[in-house]
Amino acid sequence: MDIFDTDKSRAFLPRYRAYLEEEVYPLEEQLLKLPLEDLEDAIQPLRKAAKQRGLWNPHLDQWHGGPDFSLVEFAQVSELLGTSPVGHYSCNCQAPDIGNMELLMHHASNDLQSQFLKPLTYGEARSCFGMTEPEHAGSNPVHMSTLATLEEDHYVINGHKWFTTAADGAAFVIVMAITEPEDANPYQRASMLVVPTDTEGYQRVRNIPIMGEAGGGYFSHSEIRFDNCRVPAANLIGTRGAGFTLAQKRLGPGRIHHCMRWVGICERAFTLMCQRASSRDLAPGVKLGSRQTIQNWIAESRAEINAARYSVLHAAYKIDRMGAKAAKEDISTIKFFVADILQKVLDRAIQTHGAMGITDDTLLAFWYRHERGARIYDGPDEVHKNVLARSILKEYGLNIRTHE
Ligand SMILES: Cc1cc2nc3c(=O)[nH]c(=O)nc-3n(C[C@H](O)[C@H](O)[C@H](O)COP(=O)(O)OP(=O)(O)OC[C@H]3O[C@@H](n4cnc5c(N)ncnc54)[C@H](O)[C@@H]3O)c2cc1C
Repeated sequence: MDIFDTDKSRAFLPRYRAYLEEEVYPLEEQLLKLPLEDLEDAIQPLRKAAKQRGLWNPHLDQWHGGPDFSLVEFAQVSELLGTSPVGHYSCNCQAPDIGNMELLMHHASNDLQSQFLKPLTYGEARSCFGMTEPEHAGSNPVHMSTLATLEEDHYVINGHKWFTTAADGAAFVIVMAITEPEDANPYQRASMLVVPTDTEGYQRVRNIPIMGEAGGGYFSHSEIRFDNCRVPAANLIGTRGAGFTLAQKRLGPGRIHHCMRWVGICERAFTLMCQRASSRDLAPGVKLGSRQTIQNWIAESRAEINAARYSVLHAAYKIDRMGAKAAKEDISTIKFFVADILQKVLDRAIQTHGAMGITDDTLLAFWYRHERGARIYDGPDEVHKNVLARSILKEYGLNIRTHE
C-alpha cells in the first residue's frame, strides 16, 4: 500500500510483478552471459510473453491501444521494470523509443503516425534520437551545426551526431537540425525531422565502445552522419523552429521514466546487498551484516532510495496535475539527485560483495558499467544544479542568464 497507489496501479502492478518473477528474472543469468549484440534477439520471447499478458506498451494512451496510465501510474510500472536490465525493452517502453512514440503520438501528422508510430507500437521497428554532436557541448543544446535546408518540398540535411542510442538496427532517426538559422531566438532555430535510416546520405559510422563494449542492436550508442540526406518536408514533426519546445516536452516525462527506472535498479541492488550481508560468513557464525559499516550502508541506502522514490513520484504527480512547466524545478532536482543515489547504492552493493561484486556473476557490474551515463545524459548533473539554483535565486532577485 502506497500513498501514490490508484485503483489502476493496484490492478496492474501485481501483474507486472508476476511477469518479472515468472518470466524475466529466471532468464537474466542466461541473457547477461551473452555478448550485448546478441541480447536483443534473445529477449524476443519475453516481448511475446508481455504481449500475451496484456503488459505491452504501458506508456500508451487508450486511443493508441495502451492502458492510459497517468504519469504517476506509469512511474510505478517503470520502477518495477527497472529491477531488470531487460524489463523496459521486454514491454516495449524502452528509451529512446518511448520518447519518440510520445513525440509522434502528440505532435506528428496522421501520415507520419501511420508510417512511423504504428510499427514502433507493434514492436516491428525501433527508432533513435539524434541531437548531440561530437563537435559541440551537448550540455548547451542550442550549440549545434546540423543544418536542414528546405529545397522545394524536401529538407536536405547535413550534419554529424553521436551517442545516438540504439541507432544500430533502427528504422528511423528523429533528428534535431537547424532549419531557421536567422531566427533571433536561438531556441527557435531547430526543428525535428524523421529520417528513415535507408535514406541516401544517412550513414551509421560506428557503435561507440563504452567501458570496453561497443555492443550492438538496441544495446549500443552510435556515431552517425547526414550527407546531403533528403527527406520530404512532410517529415517535419510539429512546426518549423519548434524543435526545442518539443524536446522539452519529450524530456519532462522522460526524466520521470529514467529516474523511476533508476529507483528500480537501486531496489534490486539493495536486495542483493542485503542478501549478501545476511548470508556471507566473515568467520564461522559471524555474518558480514553484523558489521556496523555494512549496517550503515544498508540504512543509508534505504533512506536514500525512499527519498529518491517519493521525490520522483511527487514530480510525476505535479506534472499530471499542473504540467511539466510547473514541475520544472522538481524535474531538474530528481535528475541529479536520483542519478547520484543510483551510483552510491550500486557502489555500496558492489563493495558488500567484495571481488564478486565486479564479476558478471551478479547484475551489479552490468549496471555499474551501463548506468554511469545517468549523470551525463538528459543533461549532466551540473547543468540541472545550475537550473535549479538559478530558479531559486530568481526568487531572491538575482537573475542569471543561461551560459553567462
Ligand atoms: C549513455 C548515453 C546515452 C546517450 N544517448 C543520447 C541519444 O540517444 N541522443 C542524443 O542526442 N544524445 C545522447 N547522449 C548524449 C548526451 O545527451 C550528452 O552527452 C549530454 O548532453 C552532455 O553533453 P556532452 O557529452 O557534449 O558534454 P559537455 O557538454 O561537453 O559537458 C562535459 C561536462 O562539463 C560539465 N558541464 C557542462 N555544462 C556545465 C555547466 N553549465 N556548469 C558546470 N559544469 C558543466 C559537466 O560535468 C559535463 O559532464 C547520450 C549520452 C550518454 C552518456
